[in-house]
Amino acid sequence: VRRFTCERCGADVAFESSRCARCGSELGYLPEQLDVRVLRQASSPSELTVDGVDHRLWRCLNAAWGCNWVLAAGGPTVWCRSCRLTRGRPDETNTSGIEAWSSIESAKRRLVHQLDALGLTFDERTQATPEGLAFDLVHLPGRPEVSGYFEGVITFDLTEASDERRDELRRQFAEPLRSVIGHLRHEIGHYYWNRLVGADDVTTTESFRRLFGDERVDYPSAIAAYYNPLRPPWDPALHITPYAAAHPLEDWAETFAHHLHISDALETAEATGLAARDRVGTGGATSSSFADLLDRWAPVAAGVNAVAASLGAPDVYPLTPRGPVVEKLSFVHERVWSASQWRWR
Ligand SMILES: [Zn+2]
Ligand SMILES: [Zn+2]
Ligand SMILES: [Zn+2]
Repeated sequence: VRRFTCERCGADVAFESSRCARCGSELGYLPEQLDVRVLRQASSPSELTVDGVDHRLWRCLNAAWGCNWVLAAGGPTVWCRSCRLTRGRPDETNTSGIEAWSSIESAKRRLVHQLDALGLTFDERTQATPEGLAFDLVHLPGRPEVSGYFEGVITFDLTEASDERRDELRRQFAEPLRSVIGHLRHEIGHYYWNRLVGADDVTTTESFRRLFGDERVDYPSAIAAYYNPLRPPWDPALHITPYAAAHPLEDWAETFAHHLHISDALETAEATGLAARDRVGTGGATSSSFADLLDRWAPVAAGVNAVAASLGAPDVYPLTPRGPVVEKLSFVHERVWSASQWRWR
């Protein structure tokens, strides 16, 4: 993410901040400004103001569970732009479920911020847009884990928020970067396939199929083949992760997620001064060329891995994208860029 600072005292503050640790100012994230701002009490007790914003604000109703986002006061909803995408969530009496849910919401806010910063639009699921985006963050005890994407709905099993469970799956499926945010980035990749590839012209579809394969191949049998222990070993020169080999649409989703990983990590490295910032913009996908992004990312990845080795920790980024994997990442980048460039002109 970009750098956030307290406008009253100048201290660096986190994306998740609700209060400045140095000067005590109330802070909140304004989605329309992509920024953490100082909040002041308005004359009405539940309302807040921000310098330069002419309408009153509310804190999101999920503030009690760590949401620091704000929204326009007096409107039809009491949830922020990110929280109101959630359709299914655990009951408040389910304390372990609520804990898992709020940690997933925290990762989801990073996702929504990144999509907005990239200028990748989405529709909320309403009566007017029934195919819009919604999240079910749930766990059905005794039932198989249900994470996945179907027609605009991202279902995320709350057990994925458990470090133990995720570590187990990370090893079982050889996915070193398996994480909640990684999972959300994968599932949203399916949503954007429809918007950036599937709904587009014949040339785009043909380019997609040349790189990723034909997405019309039977999905259930492809997934069954992936879970067969006798499947061929993962070839990192062809697919960014083992799961990407399962089906062309999974390859797209994994590649899309990886593109968001690199964009965000590079932006953070440049914003925090870990990497030199020699280009105008806010980092991330603000270059028209993926080769340029990768050139900036490679030394950062090598650097953070070297730092991890100094601390006796495993590689932070144990991958080296090359060959067809880079071509696929470039295709994702080109699709994202063409959908978002209006913002950067
Ligand atoms: Zn401050
Ligand atoms: Zn919220
Ligand atoms: Zn998927």
